Order: sequence, then C-alpha cells, then structure tokens
Amino acid sequence: MDLREKPDADSGLTARSFTVTCPFDDSEVGQLSRSTPQEIRAAFAAAGQAQRHWAEVPVERRIEVIRRFAALVDNHQDELLDLAQRETGKARISAAEELADIGLWTHYLAREGGAALRTRQRQGGFPLLTSTYERRVPVGVVGVITPWNYPLTLPMTDSLPALLAGNGVVLKPDEQTSHTALRLVKLLREADLPQNLMSVVLGSGEEAGGAVVDHADYVMFTGSSATGKVVAQRCAQRLVGFSGELGGKNPMLVLEDADVSHAATAAVNSCFANTGQLCMSIERIYVHSSRWDEFTSTLLKRVRSLRLAPGLTWKADVGSLVGQAQLSRVSERVDEAVATGAEVLAGGRARPDIGPYFYEPTLLTNVSEGMRVHREETFGPVVSLYRVDSEEEAIDAANDTDYGLLASVWSRQRGDEVAQQLRAGSVNINDGHTAAWASMDAPMGGFGQSGIGRRHGHEGITKYTESQTIARQRLAPVARIPGMSQKQWARMMMRGVRALRSIR
Ligand code: NAD
Repeated sequence: MDLREKPDADSGLTARSFTVTCPFDDSEVGQLSRSTPQEIRAAFAAAGQAQRHWAEVPVERRIEVIRRFAALVDNHQDELLDLAQRETGKARISAAEELADIGLWTHYLAREGGAALRTRQRQGGFPLLTSTYERRVPVGVVGVITPWNYPLTLPMTDSLPALLAGNGVVLKPDEQTSHTALRLVKLLREADLPQNLMSVVLGSGEEAGGAVVDHADYVMFTGSSATGKVVAQRCAQRLVGFSGELGGKNPMLVLEDADVSHAATAAVNSCFANTGQLCMSIERIYVHSSRWDEFTSTLLKRVRSLRLAPGLTWKADVGSLVGQAQLSRVSERVDEAVATGAEVLAGGRARPDIGPYFYEPTLLTNVSEGMRVHREETFGPVVSLYRVDSEEEAIDAANDTDYGLLASVWSRQRGDEVAQQLRAGSVNINDGHTAAWASMDAPMGGFGQSGIGRRHGHEGITKYTESQTIARQRLAPVARIPGMSQKQWARMMMRGVRALRSIR
C-alpha cells in the first residue's frame, strides 16, 4: 500500500479529508484523507504477505535496515524537527530529544537484536534423551497505535522492534501528527524496508484505531489509560497480545539530604519538557519541610526564567500546548484548584499574546484531595508542591495513586531504600525522568493504571514474538512400554523423578 501524502490534492476536500494545523498560529500544515475500512484491511493483508518473506530474512539483514534508517534520520534532522514542531507546537529542543531517543534506541536494537532473538538451548525433560530448544517466531502483523505528544520517537520506538523481530506493522498515529508518521515510514522505505511490510493508516481513534485493533496479531498501544482499557478489552475478545503504555501522575521526592540545586534543575526539565505533555512528566513534588524554602525559591527562580516562544527556532524552552482541548483541560483544572484553595506560585494563566495555545509553566501549593490536579493526570505544564515531614510520609503520598509509571527520588544516602518502596515501573535516583528511559537495556512501563507490558530491553523486542519450544526425544517416546502395567509405569516415572532430583 502506498503512502497517501496528498490524496485529495486534485479532488479538494471530501468527507474523509482532514486538515492538520500548526498550534503555533493555526496555519495549515496539510490535508490528508482518512483511510477507509477497506484500505485498512488491505494494508494488513499486504503487510501479512510481505511479512512471510521478511520472517525468512536473517536478523543481521533486518538490522542493516535499522542502521540505514538511523543514518537517514541523522541526515534529515532539520526537516524532521520542523515537521514535528509544526504538528505539535513543541519547543525545538523537545523535538531534538526525540531524535536523540531514536538514535539511542536504534543503536540498542542493532547491538542487541541478534542476542534477544536467538534460538536458545533449553534443559531437556530427560537427561541425555531429550534435547530441547526455544525459538522466537514473529507474531505476524503488529498494530501500533500512537498519540501526538512524541510523534517522532513513539511510532519508531514501538514499530522498529516489531520489524526487527520479523513482523509487519500497520501504524495508526494520532491524526494531528500524521505527516510526521508518514515521513518516518517513507525514510524506512528509503532504508530498504520491503514494500508493503509497514503501512500508515490514518483516521480517528474509534474508526481507524478500532479497525487496526480488529485486524492486528498483536496491538502495541500508547495513549491514555481510559482508551487503553477499551483497546485491551477488544484485544481480549480476539485473544491477541496487547501491550499498553498509558498515563501517569508521577511523583518527585526531595528528601532531607537532597542536592536541592540539582533537584530544582531536574524538576524544571521533568515538569515542563514538551510543555508537560509527557507521560513521564513530574506532576507532584513532595519536599521535606527542612528543605522546603530552599527548594521552592530555587525552583521558582528557574521557572521564571523559562522562555516561551513559537516558531522553528532554538529560542524557546517551553512550546505551545497541542491545541484547544489541551488548553481547556489545563486551564480548567488550574482554575478549579485555585477556586477551591490552591495557591499559584508561578504561572497559572494562558498566554494568547504568544500563541493561541500557550500556557505558562505553573507551580501550585495548597493542593488538596478533591482537586483534579491532585489525583488526575493533567498532561500539561502544571506541578503541585507538597510539604512533608518525613521520608515515610513522602513514600506514602507518592504511592497514593492509581498510576505507577515513574518516580524520581532526590537523596544523597537513601535513594535505593526509598526507590525500592515506590510503586512505579521506573524510578530515577538523583535524576528527573531521563536516566531510566535512556537505559535502553532496562524495561520501561507502568504499574497499575499506567500500563501492561514493557518497552525497551530484550523484552521490548521479544514481546513481538511467540516462543516456540521444540523437543527431540531419542531412543523411544515418553510413553508406557508395551506390556508394562500402569502401576509399574507410575513407579518408574516416580523413580525417574527422584533420580532427577538427586542430579539437579
Ligand atoms: P488517547 O488515548 O486519546 O489516544 C491515543 C491514540 O489512540 C490516538 O492515536 C487515538 O487516535 C487512538 N485511539 C483513541 N480511541 C481509540 C479507540 N477506541 N481504539 C483504538 N485507538 C484509539 O491519548 P491522548 O490523549 O492522545 O494521549 C495522551 C495520553 O497518552 C496521556 O494519558 C499520556 O500519559 C499517554 N502517553 C503514555 C505514554 C507512555 O509511554 N506510557 C507515552 C505517551 C503518552
């Protein structure tokens, strides 16, 4: 299936057309057409056909495609940064972090892909008689569904390991970031990915997303916890694998012996990178009362110096929100918190003078139970600061959430003890959100409502496979010898088990 970059160029707008606009100024990025159910079915059929050949291609050759793709991304940096910024309104530095991430992940896949997917000898059931091995079989065609917030890295983080493992992929990006997804897949084609092995289908979550879930042999979903549950249920009905990277309400703990200056630097980055529209964003900070004044004043100073600006330049620290829905969500929650007793230390207002969807980096205190900013994911540049009197209080408060994606602990001495008591898939000690994510060899994912399954590490590759066990038996099959009574056979089995126990 061909990528349809300008399907309606001649015919003008149709019922299936949609327009992507740039959040910086509502200018048009481009028009595209939503895939029909027939096109989505055809994309899966074509990917399935191509996949049967691809599964026979040695892993080393699949890795070569990934290496070439990584080099092409390097060579097209400016173009990709422009595109991601125009579709999301993010600051250029946030888009650049995405490219760095693609670089790290492709490097890891190239280095570790062979080891993750190799056939492994396993202990045979009967010493000398059974020889057993496990091989990794691609699942078929993986449906990858991604949100708009990291349009460069998320589609590739999930699609590349699926391809590496010998699968086809049908990618359904968020409509807002369709052009970026199309461009990336075009680069994969330039890197010699076989025609049809991977396609992009476009459209709304319910229609195009639903169709992807209905055809895929495995679904890799990134998005909100609410949608993740709908998708998981649909996968369960077909009994196909599902992996969900979902929302978060991530805490930072600044303990008594923290390096406050570093903690404040990390907080600025982890609260406001990508304008806070990051699943790993810190939205709650628990500060030991002995360090409260020092931490809040340092943080406040740094937040006040952040530059908000539109445009394809390096001049902004914080970019725009992605659109009106996000702006309304953030403004309403902050206004509601303030109306019920929260105090604004910084920010707390939209900045239409800079761009239609800009919102100031916001620090809140006096946030309490019942306010949505306290418990629900805001997914914007808003963080609540809480004063705590002990390490135990900080841990209990941090764990008092349905989510469990990430946490950050600041302590010179107590980092590991505290980290191990936190219910989160990734915990950074003396870093905000990046150290664990950048540790590509370690799995990343969520506890609780933050998801099921993991990306990164060998697990982030092998989840796109079925394991197949092949056991060869020598001399005679494992069955009662003709003429032997059932009782004798039962005794013989138990003697065999005892003998095994004495060996192992
Ligand atoms: P969303 O769940 O609304 O949409 C995500 C994707 O799912 C989009 O492509 C959308 O079109 C599609 N979709 C929507 N309804 C669907 C359905 N019924 N069936 C199939 N697909 C459907 O999420 P969003 O609001 O766009 O993204 C923000 C959320 O994503 C936040 O909660 C954030 O924390 C989360 N997120 C998580 C991670 C992670 O790695 N854990 C990364 C990025 C974003």
